[in-house]
Amino acid sequence: MTQQPVGDSVQYASLETSVLTATQLEQNFQEIHPALSAREAVIEANRCLFCYDAPCTHACPTHIDIPSFIKKIATENTRGSARVILESNFLGSTCARVCPVQELCEGACVLGSDHKPIEIGRLQRYATDYVLERKLDLFKPGKPTGKKVVVIGAGPAGLSCAAELAKLGHAVTILEKKPLAGGLSTYGIVVFREPVEVSLAEVEMVQRLGVEIKTGITVGQDIQIADLERDYDAIFLGIGLGNVPQLGISGEDLGGVVDGIDFIELTKTSPYSSIPVGKHVAVIGAGNTAIDAATIAKRLGAARVTMVYRRTETEMTAYNFEYEFAKQEGIEYRFLTAPVAIHGDSSGLTSLECVTMRLGEPDASGRPRPEVIEGSNHMLEVDMVIKAIGQNKQTQLAQALGLEIKNGYIVTDAHNHTSNPKVFAGGDCVRLKGDASTVMAVQDGKIAAKSITQMLERAAIAND
Ligand SMILES: Cc1cc2nc3c(=O)[nH]c(=O)nc-3n(C[C@H](O)[C@H](O)[C@H](O)COP(=O)(O)OP(=O)(O)OC[C@H]3O[C@@H](n4cnc5c(N)ncnc54)[C@H](O)[C@@H]3O)c2cc1C
Ligand code: SF4
Repeated sequence: MTQQPVGDSVQYASLETSVLTATQLEQNFQEIHPALSAREAVIEANRCLFCYDAPCTHACPTHIDIPSFIKKIATENTRGSARVILESNFLGSTCARVCPVQELCEGACVLGSDHKPIEIGRLQRYATDYVLERKLDLFKPGKPTGKKVVVIGAGPAGLSCAAELAKLGHAVTILEKKPLAGGLSTYGIVVFREPVEVSLAEVEMVQRLGVEIKTGITVGQDIQIADLERDYDAIFLGIGLGNVPQLGISGEDLGGVVDGIDFIELTKTSPYSSIPVGKHVAVIGAGNTAIDAATIAKRLGAARVTMVYRRTETEMTAYNFEYEFAKQEGIEYRFLTAPVAIHGDSSGLTSLECVTMRLGEPDASGRPRPEVIEGSNHMLEVDMVIKAIGQNKQTQLAQALGLEIKNGYIVTDAHNHTSNPKVFAGGDCVRLKGDASTVMAVQDGKIAAKSITQMLERAAIAND
């Protein structure tokens, strides 16, 4: 990975690096779930009932034929098992690690009610890691169609779309603004859930299908979208979302106040021992980014990490298993609490001023509106504040293409087609409703690749 300078930026200037040793830090950032051995995988696979019309498959957004891939593990056909997975989900190794399986396939497993559900995620990881580690290519590029498609953004949506397009014979170029491809799988998912190497191995698998990936290119700055619209037969936008929005309170520009996504990114791009962290850390927000930032701060050695959220645990957007995980990590919670000011000076932060809230009538999101209890101001002693209240929307490219946009998200139909005939989109940038997750982005990419092909075929017939 690219090594970035840390600790010298304004935000981190007042903070020290971890008090933990390099060995302790390495241990803290190991993958949480160990890989299954071949024997463990076969034993677990043999517990499966190989259900007809399997509920686990229905619950998977990419509709992987789960009983089929598990059966192949049971008969020690690991390569065949991986093929079944990757046919439906080209980023099966990432999804095996990051999917909220309790809410999806494992949550639907018929064995869950009386026994333990099958460990579908770990079995999927076993099979897909087998091919990633050996660099086995189970799919070939399709017969060339002579059509050129440009994909903007090399996150899960863009990579999935590009892989499916390449399998169908189209020439695909991905343009990515970061130095490395992979999107949030490379830069955002905590390293103890998905090591960077896994994401990058998947990127290489996409490249081996003939997809060209050009990194360090920001579309809209380094190259204009109108030029791409002119030069390519179709465009797929998989640009995700942006950084964390401003809190809009005083003291936000002081050193020691950091963006949650940037903070997580540091742990994926820099040696752990070089990352500055506070002793008393407050994390503002209660979604998955907030929980990840909080657990990272704790594992870097912060003595106390407190999550500050203006609603209650019932309204939290983080998955329940993540909330439980954070509690086990020793993260403290202040519910019905909202920050109103950050205090400190050039030598560092001293406190986060908060007010107590109560819940009122539902707001536009359908959740109870938090209301301030007057005179409830109180101080939380902190030397670091991590902002994790969601992600900004990026509408610049969509606007330049004249696309329909709603609440900052690109509007698409069920085929991931936008309001522009040549442009398709998927992943977080279209996720107006529902959970923004890797597996949903992968499925969007897949659907879009099919729709793009149909559009190109229709255009070819019309031009005949
Ligand atoms: C901290 C964090 C933790 C998460 N944890 C989980 C988890 O455990 N499980 C899960 O399922 N999901 C998780 N998610 C959500 C998941 O990562 C996203 O849903 C998924 O990455 C969306 O994929 P995407 O391709 O739409 O966007 P991204 O992964 O954001 O990729 C978009 C890509 O487009 C590039 N790009 C943007 N604009 C331009 C431009 N103008 N020119 C060129 N390139 C551009 C970006 O650099 C980026 O690489 C997490 C998200 C965050 C922030
Ligand atoms: S529901 Fe459970 S037991 Fe049935 S096929 Fe899926 S993993 Fe196997």
